[in-house]
Amino acid sequence: MSTEKVKCLIIGSGPAGYTAAIYTGRANIAPVLYEGLQPGGQLTITTEVENFPGYPEGISGTQLMEDLRKQAERFGADIRNGIATSADLSKRPYHITIDDEKVIEAETVIISTGATAKYLGLEDEQKYAGMGVSACATCDGFFYRKKTVAVVGGGDTACEEAIYLAGLAKQVYLIVRKPFLRASKIMQARVINHPNIKVLFEHNAVGLYGENGVEGVHLVKRQGESDEERYDLPIDGFFLAIGHKPNSDIFKDYLDTDEVGYIITEEGTPRTKVPGVFAAGDVADPHYRQAITAAGSGCKAAIEAERYLSANNLL
Ligand code: NDP
Repeated sequence: MSTEKVKCLIIGSGPAGYTAAIYTGRANIAPVLYEGLQPGGQLTITTEVENFPGYPEGISGTQLMEDLRKQAERFGADIRNGIATSADLSKRPYHITIDDEKVIEAETVIISTGATAKYLGLEDEQKYAGMGVSACATCDGFFYRKKTVAVVGGGDTACEEAIYLAGLAKQVYLIVRKPFLRASKIMQARVINHPNIKVLFEHNAVGLYGENGVEGVHLVKRQGESDEERYDLPIDGFFLAIGHKPNSDIFKDYLDTDEVGYIITEEGTPRTKVPGVFAAGDVADPHYRQAITAAGSGCKAAIEAERYLSANNLL
């Protein structure tokens, strides 16, 4: 297996990774960044970003990530295709294997691998994968023009996906397991007032049916304390928007994670328990999970990496 030595390895290409690359690039550390499975991260599969400071009219997620990438490259970041497939953080330099074929020996590592969409765990989700089941409305919504779709979830993502789909589909059902939405007030209002969206509170999706693709969803509606009603709802597409799982599996032997898998860092900093290894963005953030907070933590991780390299005479 080939090896390469770097001062700072950044894993992941969302706002955290790119911001870390901008800062370490400007500090002349010549960072190497591997983009991971989804170059640009989750923002590339969202629509409009309205709350990233500096864009009064909003900006598309893809454009924002392209801009961040260009900004990182301008300062010398070496941005590459590739996925970190295993890690050995037992001693410095830390060994990260890329695509099972190359080992990067890094003096510092910034983990900004983000999080991946969760599924309900129904067998039917696999059975109908690519045949009516999706976790990305902006990727697949196009196929449901003038059709009927359901979105599962009650958070901001679910509301965003429902609104996006409502612009294409003729009817959108939002399947929410609680009697209320968890989303921000502004998103709640948009969903509730949208003529094409119907919110099904206290509903759970328990299965899908259809001959050659999704034709409907089996629903259970809670009625009071103990009663429930079961019925089938015809739909053409079934979208999941129930949150995300942090992409921390390959680091679990070396770093502390919480029960969901979020990497635990020292309060208020991106420092993990391994010196010189930092975690930034959604992979370490169960609370805020915003593009701007991810970018902020990427900045902190870069500053920490620079200080660590300097303190250990590695610059
Ligand atoms: P959240 O964790 O906020 O919401 C997940 C939703 O899915 C909840 O309604 C939850 O229900 C529901 N859910 C989870 N598991 C299941 C299940 N097994 N069956 C049925 N429903 C389930 O995730 P989001 O992805 O929506 O948001 C993550 C973070 O990103 C949040 O902080 C959010 O504010 C932020 N965000 C911000 C945006 C913006 O500002 N533009 C856009 C998108 C996300 P329950 O409430 O019952 O737990």
